Parts: sequence; structure tokens; C-alpha cells
Amino acid sequence: MIQGSGRCHYHPERAGLGVCVECRRVICRECTTQFEGINRCASCLSTRLKALEGPGERREWTVGNVLLAVVGMGIVWVGMLALAAAVS
Ligand SMILES: [Zn+2]
Ligand SMILES: [Zn+2]
Repeated sequence: MIQGSGRCHYHPERAGLGVCVECRRVICRECTTQFEGINRCASCLSTRLKALEGPGERREWTVGNVLLAVVGMGIVWVGMLALAAAVS
């Protein structure tokens, strides 16, 4: 491990001010970012922001999607009817 935890992980010449809650690295004042009231290094903050953006992509039920679902169910229904007709 790196010695001298009193130094910023990213700037060895600078004194560490806080600790990143994510990676537990000592970070200087410049590297400290306050997001959601929590100290993070710039690296972890960008990771966090990416994580927030990622799954935020919502699939909305558009008319096309509903139509596709209805058509799909219709095909299954017709298939079952055809199967029943073939058996009898
Ligand atoms: Zn970090
Ligand atoms: Zn720094």
C-alpha cells in the first residue's frame, strides 16, 4: 500500500483533506466533490453520475408498443384457435 495517507491520492504534493467514501482514497480540497452531501473523488463522482444516467433510460409505453403487444397476443390466440380446430 501507499504510505503517507495524509497526501492526496491524485496529487502527492498536496495535503489530503478528506477521504472518498467510495474508494477510501485520501483526496485534497481540489479533488473533493460534494455530491448529495457526500465526499467523493472526481473519479468516483463521474462513475456515480454515469451510474445515475445508465438505468435512468425508461421505456415508455408508446402506441407502437401497445399495438405490438396486442398483435402478439392476437397471433397467440389465433394459433390456439387453429390448434383447437386441428385437434377436433
Ligand atoms: Zn473515490
Ligand atoms: Zn488532489
